[in-house]
Amino acid sequence: MADKIRMTTPLVEMDGDEMTRIIWQMIKDILLTPYIDLKTEYYDLGLVHRNETDDQVTIDSAEATKKYGVAVKCATITPNAQRMTEYNLKEMWKSPNGTIRAILDGTVFRKPILVKGINPYIPTWTKPITIARHAYGDIYKNTEMKVEIGSKAELVVTDKDGNETRKLIHDFKNSDGVIQGVHNLDDSISSFARACFNYALDAKEDLWFASKDTISKTYDHRFKDIFAEIYENEYKAKFEAAGIEYFYTLIDDVIARVIRSEGGFIWACKNYDGDVMSDMLATAYGSLGLMTSVLVSPSGVYEYEAAHGTVTRHYYNHLKGEKTSTNPIATLFAWTGALRKRGELDNISELCKFADALEKASIQTMEDGIMDKNLSILSTLPEKRVVDTETFLVEINERLKKLI
Ligand code: NAP
Ligand code: MG
Repeated sequence: MADKIRMTTPLVEMDGDEMTRIIWQMIKDILLTPYIDLKTEYYDLGLVHRNETDDQVTIDSAEATKKYGVAVKCATITPNAQRMTEYNLKEMWKSPNGTIRAILDGTVFRKPILVKGINPYIPTWTKPITIARHAYGDIYKNTEMKVEIGSKAELVVTDKDGNETRKLIHDFKNSDGVIQGVHNLDDSISSFARACFNYALDAKEDLWFASKDTISKTYDHRFKDIFAEIYENEYKAKFEAAGIEYFYTLIDDVIARVIRSEGGFIWACKNYDGDVMSDMLATAYGSLGLMTSVLVSPSGVYEYEAAHGTVTRHYYNHLKGEKTSTNPIATLFAWTGALRKRGELDNISELCKFADALEKASIQTMEDGIMDKNLSILSTLPEKRVVDTETFLVEINERLKKLI
């Protein structure tokens, strides 16, 4: 066999939990280490080790990502009350994804993998739509109150010299009611905008953004203005050179355009829009097992992962000794995404070619009708063979061998 592909800079490897942790090892053993002299800096983000290190390992892994520029992450458990007892935790540790996102100041981009037989609910969507959600502020950091009849609610801002500015929200003369205060930060909106513009350049796809600036003439309008200003000053020339467009419209208009589109663009969303629309897109494209995710920082650092979780139900079956049929594709594409990016940054074309071949082999496998149980339920292919996870990966390897 030919020499293994050599890497120069290590990839930051963030291991995780449950079924995806098992799949992680299988992917490395069956599809990566036979071909690549895999160079990673390993961080064990499994819940046991997060607990042992008081979650310091999560912080360290994010710092390493900043240093090296590319990470690949396995799905991890976000603890809840039940996990506290299951893992005998010292504390209810925060979501690792939240911690990493905060340190990298990143934006998450989700993109579906399209394969024959898994048809989007919208038949015109022949290309993937990538969705980006601004993950700071708005209603997710709100302050709200119930208000009794006879009360008057105002917005009050005290500036650094102690001067107050007041604006009436509502005079509750005739009824009880509710109020809500929300905020966002120019810094956060700017980071979001830059991450989106960078990603669009990287993917060579148009970028769409929408808000409700006609109704929210100060708040939403600020988003529109910041995007426009950054585009004009920093990205316009680069977009023109790449032959791509930045397009702004109203949120309701964008929905109509998305539904009628053929896909193939990036859709940037405010926090709430992204929360709702990412679930809509994931469902409409078919399968969580085929949804990829990458966190991009405004400085151009990338962390790749699958959009799904640790697939707990399958893991409990695995612990009983059963062979599970879990879809490894989104986790595998996290690896190929990260390896390709590493190859681009370090000028290792063999690494990029390997990533392309591995993705192609994966898609061929599914289009040959070989897939996991959940995917087979959705697939319209006439002939399907449901396989366990390991066989799935072995079948991919058979096709990979022919491609390289
Ligand atoms: P999940 O792990 O995504 O699984 C939900 C269900 O979706 C599974 O039970 C399975 O359905 C199906 N599914 C998801 N991925 C699949 C795959 N690769 N192959 C086949 N089927 C798949 O979500 P969850 O059950 O809500 O969360 C489990 C744990 O993951 C939680 O502890 C949560 O904190 C964590 N989580 C982590 C991340 C992350 O690290 N990014 C994201 C989400 C959740 P069936 O059972 O019907 O087969
Ligand atoms: Mg949601």
